[in-house]
Amino acid sequence: MGLRKYTRAGAAIYRSPQWKAVRLLAKRRDGFKCVSCRAVGDLEVDHIQPIRSHPDLAYDLTNLQTLCVPCHSRKTRIEVGLDVIDPKRQAWRDLVRELAKPLKDTPHHA
Ligand SMILES: [Zn+2]
Repeated sequence: MGLRKYTRAGAAIYRSPQWKAVRLLAKRRDGFKCVSCRAVGDLEVDHIQPIRSHPDLAYDLTNLQTLCVPCHSRKTRIEVGLDVIDPKRQAWRDLVRELAKPLKDTPHHA
């Protein structure tokens, strides 16, 4: 119920040119790092106050924070009231995700 509404409310904002501009500003401000775990790479820009409850803050830089995909999905799950994954399971998921990544950070000299 709430989840569907949240997704739809967010979708229009996420497609807008303003969002693309402000998202880049937020990432640049945060040094292109996850503000939660300092990860670089797969980054998303999160609304600290959700669009659902604070649509007026959708493009407000002070309401934005850069999060990596795992941190962002964890936060979103909590916001929409889904069960929090137990930390052991989440750690395992993160590990699997880590292992699935291409080894782009490892220099490989032929
Ligand atoms: Zn993170």
